[in-house]
Order: sequence, then structure tokens, then C-alpha cells
Amino acid sequence: MSHQSGRHFLQIPGPTNVPERVLRAMARPTIDHRGPEFGRLGLELLEGIKAIFKTKGHVIIFPTSGSGAWEAALVNTLSPGDKVLMFETGQFSFLWQEMAGKLGFDVTYLQSDWRHGVDAAAIEAQLRDDRQHQIKAVGIVHNETSTGVASNVAAVRKAMDRAGHPALLMVDTISSLGSIDYRHDEWGVDVAIGGSQKGLMLPPGMSFNAISEKALSASKSAKMPRSYWDWQAMLANNKNGFFPYTPATNLLYGLREALQMLQDEGLENVFARHSRHGEATRRAVQAWGLEVLCLNPAEYSSSSTSVLLPAGQNADEFRKVVLEQFNMALGSGLARLAGKVFRIGHLGDFNDLMLAGTLCGVEMGLAMAGVPHKKGGVQAALEVLTQAAKGARVEAAPARA
Ligand code: PLP
Repeated sequence: MSHQSGRHFLQIPGPTNVPERVLRAMARPTIDHRGPEFGRLGLELLEGIKAIFKTKGHVIIFPTSGSGAWEAALVNTLSPGDKVLMFETGQFSFLWQEMAGKLGFDVTYLQSDWRHGVDAAAIEAQLRDDRQHQIKAVGIVHNETSTGVASNVAAVRKAMDRAGHPALLMVDTISSLGSIDYRHDEWGVDVAIGGSQKGLMLPPGMSFNAISEKALSASKSAKMPRSYWDWQAMLANNKNGFFPYTPATNLLYGLREALQMLQDEGLENVFARHSRHGEATRRAVQAWGLEVLCLNPAEYSSSSTSVLLPAGQNADEFRKVVLEQFNMALGSGLARLAGKVFRIGHLGDFNDLMLAGTLCGVEMGLAMAGVPHKKGGVQAALEVLTQAAKGARVEAAPARA
């Protein structure tokens, strides 16, 4: 088909739909990134982004995708050959620990089944065994985008404290930031990794490190070679709102608009909206008689839902039908989940009717692709949305404290 009328539905778990307001904000002439107007913009954003991480500390902004911020977290705080402990939650934890290995760190990767979040007790046990305190960092993914499982970060912090271990805690918040509650300072995280293209409603191409005082001080003695990712050069320039190299100026215009939108809606309302959409989506999946990949209700993700298809069904064939017939992109299963699951992204600039449209596309697609299922998923989701609109409280995922 050469032209499909109407809007494309981008329902992958990021990059997410970029709102018109953000697109318009970016469609402005690029300015001198060493001039006074830019300095004011930089200062405003470097301060404004802190609220999203719930931190009073520094947040570094890199013109790079999320993987760059992964690397920055590691090379700024660690020295060659350092031991790091990482926990398997899915493909993104896998890629991060693989990167750590390629950088020459000595990685212990605790295995799991891709259907649960981080096991804080397993981390505690490893740290207790490490009497010499050779493990320098623990790395976890808050919301594992490949599985739709959100881990309890505060529980990991408590486990580390119980073990009395001084390792840094690094948390990937790429698909939770701005959609699932994340509390950098309160949870005692040392380095958070964020990205522009999910809850922040921006195009891909910008990423973040939120850093604690402890991480900052570790960076002063850390011996890993670094240049582009160097926090110190960034912080020195950031003092006046500038960057050591050319920043992604137009993405920064977009960030200013996105921060305004999040502030106008109120972060807690943003989390409640995501939680409601997650719940409505899971009710639909349940009514279809399909299985949500995440096995622990306390770890359901508010930003995306991974749906297992019955054995013998090909999730990629199903996604192809949905894309061709309804102009909607659903997320694919990654790595070991390829062909077995599809992912519904319900994060970012999203509302009840967009979710309803998304679920209609899924339900019609299931029928067209011949996937065995029951009718009524959309109806079940609409019930949740209607009750919520009438004022009934849809329980937000409990704050993970
Ligand atoms: N971590 C998580 C949780 C992600 O979802 C992604 C990408 O989707 C990444 C890391 C990697 O980020 P990027 O693809 O922007 O480099």
C-alpha cells in the first residue's frame, strides 16, 4: 500500500510518540551553542531535569542514545578490571553487562528467567560473600523493556545496606524515567542512566547520567580512560550552561517543552496515568486468554506489556498483519523472546483513547492473524478506563520503598 491515511500508531516501548508541542518546539533555528541564549537554555535544563530524576545532584546530558550513558556510568566511576555485579532481567541487562565485559571489567552476571525482576536477596548474598569489597558496582535495570518487568530499586538499596557493602548502585531508568516513579536521592542510587526517547516524549539521541556525591567522588580517582564521556569536563562547562562539545541543540529545545508538559500534568499524575494504562492493557490480555510475560504482579510494568502468544503462533507474523492492516507498530520479542512475544508500549504522550485504539488494533490483528483468543479484551480495558474516568481509583503500582 503506497499511502495509509490517518496517523501511524507507534506502540513500541520506545521510541514513543513525540507530541506536536515538542515537535514544534524543536522546529526552530539552531543557535550558537557558545552564545548567551544557549547558556541560559543550558542552565534552565540542567536544573529542570533534576526534578524528573528526583535528585538535587548533578545530571549530565549527553548527545547520544542510551547505550552511551551506560558506558559513561561505567567508565567514569570504575578502574580497569574492577569487579561489577549485574542482574539478568532481560535483553537490556544482558547488553549492559556485555558492554561491561567488553570494557574489561570482571562481571558477575546473576542469571534469571526473564519473567521476574531483580532478586535483592541474591544481590545481598553476593555482596556478603565479598568480604574484601572487591565488587565496585552493582548494575540493574529498573524497567526491563524487553520483558515488561519493573524491579524494586529501593529493595536493592536496602539489601546493599544490610550487607554493609560500599559498591556503587547503578540503575538503568531508560524506560521508567517519566513514566514509572523513580527516586534517585531517596533510594540512594549512585548513577542513573536515562534516555530521551521514552517517558520524556522526545526523539532518540539524548541520554543522561544522574550522579550522587559518592559517584562524583569515585569519578575523581577512577582510572578508566575516558574522553567523550568524561563527567568532569561536562560539569566544568555545565556551570555556565555550556557543553564541552556540540550539544544536540534542537533536542534540548524539545526537552524544555517536554519538561514543561510533565510539570503541567504533574509527575505523580503522569505515573498514575501510566499505571492505569498498564492495568487496562493487562485486563485486555487476560480477557483475550493470553499470558502476560511478567509473572509477579508486584513487578508489572506501567510503561509496557509483553504478551506471550500460544505455542506454535508466530508473534512476528501477527505484528506484520497489524502493521500492514492497521498501520500500528508493536514491539518485537527480543533475543530469546523473538517470535514468542509482542510488546505493547503504553508510555510517553499517551491517553485513554490512544490506548483504546491500540488495543482495538491488537484484537482485530489477533483475529486476522488466526491467533486463538477470546473476544472481549478491548471491552475489559474500556471498563477500567471508564471506571477511572468516573473517579474510581486505579491503584498505582505501589511506590517501591
Ligand atoms: N536500556 C533499556 C532499558 C532500554 O530500553 C534501551 C533501549 O531501548 C537501552 C538501554 C539502550 O538504549 P539505546 O538503544 O538508546 O542505546
